Amino acid sequence: MKQKIRQMLVDSLGTDRVLAEPVDLLPYNKDTYNVKFSEQGKLAPDFVVLPETTEEVQEIVKIARDHKIPLLPKGGGSGRTGMLVPIYGGIIVDTIRMNKIIEVSIPNLAVTVQPGITLNDLDSYLSKYGLSLHQEQGSYKVATVGGSIATSGFSRKHQKYGTIADRVMSLEVVLADGSVLRTGKKVLYTSTGYRLHQLFIGAEGTLGIITEATLRVEPLPEERDAVLAFYDDFWVANEAAQRLMQSSVTFTGAEAYEVADSTKYGAPPNKKGIFYACLEGTKGEVEAEHKYISNIVADTGGIAAKPEDAKKFLDVYVKQFCGARATTGFEDALVAYVPMEHIKEYYDELWGRIMPKYGLEGVPGEKLSLDAGRYRMLGARFFIEKSDEGWERYRKALREIATLTTSFGGSISSCHGVGIEHKDNLDLEFSEIALDVMRSIKKALDPLNIMNPGKKIPEK
Ligand SMILES: Cc1cc2nc3c(=O)[nH]c(=O)nc-3n(C[C@H](O)[C@H](O)[C@H](O)COP(=O)(O)OP(=O)(O)OC[C@H]3O[C@@H](n4cnc5c(N)ncnc54)[C@H](O)[C@@H]3O)c2cc1C
Repeated sequence: MKQKIRQMLVDSLGTDRVLAEPVDLLPYNKDTYNVKFSEQGKLAPDFVVLPETTEEVQEIVKIARDHKIPLLPKGGGSGRTGMLVPIYGGIIVDTIRMNKIIEVSIPNLAVTVQPGITLNDLDSYLSKYGLSLHQEQGSYKVATVGGSIATSGFSRKHQKYGTIADRVMSLEVVLADGSVLRTGKKVLYTSTGYRLHQLFIGAEGTLGIITEATLRVEPLPEERDAVLAFYDDFWVANEAAQRLMQSSVTFTGAEAYEVADSTKYGAPPNKKGIFYACLEGTKGEVEAEHKYISNIVADTGGIAAKPEDAKKFLDVYVKQFCGARATTGFEDALVAYVPMEHIKEYYDELWGRIMPKYGLEGVPGEKLSLDAGRYRMLGARFFIEKSDEGWERYRKALREIATLTTSFGGSISSCHGVGIEHKDNLDLEFSEIALDVMRSIKKALDPLNIMNPGKKIPEK
């Protein structure tokens, strides 16, 4: 049977775009999530296919549908929660060759693309027109448009420009029965019909394969600047972030976090807290915002970095630091949304009680962070011991952390999705009725359960 399926895929795509040899399948055994230590590298898909067009995706889906084979759409593979782990084998639909820009409409500030283009490549192209998607994820060099939509990706510049979820105007999706759905006209705002594209934002490939997206873009700013300040610790830096969030000043994105060594950013020794705000807009706007935020820094006792250090920091932080994080190995990064009044309690419980209870250690300088603004979220990075026993402890800790987060009315995963990492803890965040509604949607769109099965929602 496997041989027969392979032949059908080859008939559709040609030999070069169907991978079936173990050595070729090796890189496709997971995303950046750490599966159980003894299972590392053991799971593999049956095939990887590299389509170039919507029609080819349709053919692949029809083969999978007729033979009830799981399908896992793949973008850059930078997901963090096991969304790409082939738990039941199946076909990975790698969108790497679906990377074309179909149309740029300057009057409508819209771009239509295939899903496999990276955020970085799209922005480089748009910059020729003086435009940008402004979806500045830490993973923007490898993350694709399809992957970002399918995980409802977070952008550091969310306060001014929103995130990818705010930019989707229309999607083309190949559904599990092989039909092609166009979710609506290429408009950003409408009140007709159900907003079908919303179903696929953050769906992690469980409802269909996105084959085209029309996205709202924005002009590049006239001016870009940053305020960077150093504090004794995270908690005073956090005060500056809280003050900024309570003000009416328009900033692009801001963060407060702890750092192991801030001297490399120009800080005096022993400053363990950093606060920065990124500012974009017209020159006048940015100057006024800079002045306002500098006053917040002075009022909260921060030491402001030199202007050139602040600008350099933004580039170093976004362009190197985040990229480097991907290679740091057996670790996990939590990103929870916790109501602001509980942030201290959350971190105290997390690091004071739960992590020690399960013998988990934080990554130095990356235990506390707040992405400030309307989509604010709290980060925490920790090491997972390289043993099955250590992994089991980590799984138990996750449950307790999820209990803590949801007891404050928060969300377990603000931008890394659910995958397999958080799936079994969703009962803490959603009622059984809500989960049943999700299961009904999944069943209606994917009755054979072939679209990325075993991810996103807990089975009943
Ligand atoms: C160093 C680092 C920094 C990160 N920083 C951020 C950050 O700042 N903000 C943030 O939001 N995330 C961040 N992430 C997480 C990750 O990069 C995002 O989830 C990203 O959006 C995933 O995109 P991708 O193309 O790599 O998707 P993949 O990992 O390939 O896939 C992710 C999910 O999307 C589905 N999918 C992919 N393409 C399609 C498609 N065409 N149709 C349907 N489903 C599809 C997959 O099936 C899978 O379930 C970071 C990760 C790393 C490693």
